[in-house]
Amino acid sequence: MALGEFEIIRRFFSDIGPADAALRGVGDDCAGLSIPPGKTLQLSVDTLVADVHFPAAAPAALIARRALASCVSDLAAMGATPWCFTLALTLPDADEHWLTEFAAGLGDASEHFGLRLIGGDTTRGPLCITLQVMGLTGTGKVLQRNAAQPGDIIWLTGATGLARAALECACLATPDAAPAADAIFLDAYYRPQVPHRFAVQIAGFARAAIDISDGLIADLGHIAAASGCGAQLDCARLPLAAAMLARFGSESALAFALGGGDDYQLCFTAAAAASTRLQSMAAAAGIIVTAIGEMTDGGGVALSNLPAGFELPVSGYQHFSQQGDA
Ligand code: ADP
Ligand code: MG
Repeated sequence: MALGEFEIIRRFFSDIGPADAALRGVGDDCAGLSIPPGKTLQLSVDTLVADVHFPAAAPAALIARRALASCVSDLAAMGATPWCFTLALTLPDADEHWLTEFAAGLGDASEHFGLRLIGGDTTRGPLCITLQVMGLTGTGKVLQRNAAQPGDIIWLTGATGLARAALECACLATPDAAPAADAIFLDAYYRPQVPHRFAVQIAGFARAAIDISDGLIADLGHIAAASGCGAQLDCARLPLAAAMLARFGSESALAFALGGGDDYQLCFTAAAAASTRLQSMAAAAGIIVTAIGEMTDGGGVALSNLPAGFELPVSGYQHFSQQGDA
């Protein structure tokens, strides 16, 4: 390694994200967090393995952006305000150019989402990124998967399927060389627009929530299972991006929207009486929300208004399943 471990940490990872006096960060044996009274710390860890979760050859800044967005999405799903994170980085070599780009992308993403890098670990091996994100919720203002009730309206922020559509683009690993028509898909893949501020606004007001990482059907299924009820999803109401319809046709677009993952949008439920207030909160926040169904007394996810002959996509990526091994 041309650059030593400590040199890498000092140069690239010692000042990422907004400073906060309540955080003791990089440089000692442990980081320290002074949790404000009355707040609950929400934390989540995710590992992103090169060529499993992202193309290793992709621009490093985009790898960083996508990695942090996908983790902040878990905080959003709890209604937590992003606060800080740690980074365990395994690198095949100390490539100064790659590290410069990666740190720049990570810095931009940290400022965007408002969380500070407070520590980590740096090792040598196949490229792998582990991020542990931490956020804060106020008393009674946490969104959980198990809080949906029959009769709740099911809402979706933004649209799903675009990140799945990116996997069909020839330039997934080289987005800078992609034709302009692919930009919308690649952008959704590398720069997911996590509704992190809106998520905090609806905490304590919406009931259950989950972020769409495995696919809409699979993730909505987690809400239904955890809440002990069913979900009726109206396929005719799903927002389908015009670019996705034009490029892939209505069948594939619907399959991507129902089964594709990595969108990092929010699916949440709220009492029907809250609909008007929710819509005005979303409009004020510049977030598009769509009512896509209703929670029921049943179990699982039932789909209505599927086109005749439509074959349901296999939904929900699982490591170690035959699908994941492929
Ligand atoms: P230790 O040997 O005590 O585990 P390390 O040598 O691993 O300490 O790390 C030294 C300091 O640098 C610690 O504060 C650690 O949190 C931080 N650190 C190491 N790698 C990273 C990284 N990739 N990003 C941010 N901080 C890091
Ligand atoms: Mg260490």
